[in-house]
Amino acid sequence: TVITRFAPSPTGYLHIGGARTALFCSLFARHHGGQFKLRIEDTDRARSTDAAIEAIIDGLRWLGLDWDGEPVSQFARVERHREAVNALLARGRAFKCFCTPEEVEALREEAFKEGRALRSPWRDRDASGAPAGAAYTVRFRAPETGVTIQDEVQGEVRWAAKEFDDLVLLRADGTPTYNLAVVVDDHDMGVTHIIRGDDHLTNAARQYQIYEALGWDVPVFAHIPLIHGPDGKKLSKRHGALGVEAYRDMGYLPEGLRNYLLRLGWAKGDKELFTDEEMVQAFDLDGLNKAPARLDFDKMASVNAFHMKRADDDRLTALLFERLEAREGLRTDEAARAWVRAAMGLLKERAKTLAELEEQVYFLLRPRPIALEGKSAKALDDEARARLSRLREVLARHGDWNEPELGAALKRFAEDEEVGFGKVGMPLRAALTGGAPAPDMSFVLAVLGKEESLARLDDQV
Ligand code: GLU
Repeated sequence: TVITRFAPSPTGYLHIGGARTALFCSLFARHHGGQFKLRIEDTDRARSTDAAIEAIIDGLRWLGLDWDGEPVSQFARVERHREAVNALLARGRAFKCFCTPEEVEALREEAFKEGRALRSPWRDRDASGAPAGAAYTVRFRAPETGVTIQDEVQGEVRWAAKEFDDLVLLRADGTPTYNLAVVVDDHDMGVTHIIRGDDHLTNAARQYQIYEALGWDVPVFAHIPLIHGPDGKKLSKRHGALGVEAYRDMGYLPEGLRNYLLRLGWAKGDKELFTDEEMVQAFDLDGLNKAPARLDFDKMASVNAFHMKRADDDRLTALLFERLEAREGLRTDEAARAWVRAAMGLLKERAKTLAELEEQVYFLLRPRPIALEGKSAKALDDEARARLSRLREVLARHGDWNEPELGAALKRFAEDEEVGFGKVGMPLRAALTGGAPAPDMSFVLAVLGKEESLARLDDQV
């Protein structure tokens, strides 16, 4: 069976690139009916605070990327990593190196000058010759042959032997190093496919050597190009919006961001819009792009718009009020929620993000009396107010409080007044919305209901 994993180091947030990696890993596993596992690479104890780990987990949960089983802590597996180092020592594939840091520095300089990899003199020396109680590291006995990897994205990648030092596996303080820990963890977790950023490509070569030395099967590698900013440069702090929570705050739906991230680095034909089922069905390693992808916020919004339209009205209403509660001076009571819920079917068609939707529902949620903004104050001159008060009486007698009947009533009223529809619509819009963006007046009346509509009119006439 297929087993993939996402192995973030806790940085304090789920990086958008990491989110895409996690998505690909999850889709690949689901596509093959396999498992997607989570490993927290928490060996850097200073950075691996509970909050930093929680932030990654929250990001994954928000994005709807559920992993199988309990998250694995890399730090907790340190004994197992040491066992693997001992196995390598026993096989003669690793050795104890008693060089002092100064000696290592000298070796490094010498190797650099000669254009070759660092070789420790203790490779071929008997450890019994070391001073009693001397500190040592355990180093990998780097093979004298190169490495060739068949990467699912990068194709065949070769490295010469001279590119690989006698890598430290266990530091003098007994802590394992990154490449060793990753190999042991991936092996023990049964990982069959490693999909990750191509910044790890050279690590893959080192890891390959360690797998081989331990006699373990090497997983399939797929190293994906990193995400670039809209300016084509590697995504960095300078671009802002690194963590997925920034995208949540911008008002993207998790399924919208999933769809966008899928297409940011993977393609099947020119299909852009994917439901979750379609993603799982379509995903394969063949579709992974070899060139870095650029973030494109317009495209992200248009992909999200597709998912806004498909989203359930109750859910959108709930998500929207979570955002609105942080805003001052807007109604969030039950009646206001009911109006928003009733309007959602129409409003969601017009908003690409929840942030846009927030602006679209603003007119419903302004507390009475509604302050007139922009042109709406001018729209309510004496003539208009007099007309509104006549309209108020017509509406007070109006029975069928629904959009088509209200639309017809407004038209009839304009005819009776012998004015163009604008002379009715403009002041009505001003009174009902205060000038905020809103759909047709008959729709607004229908959503607000008779009582609130008349009350808003009364405030202005
Ligand atoms: N912990 C590494 C990172 O966050 C990923 C390691 C891996 O995927 O092998 O970049």
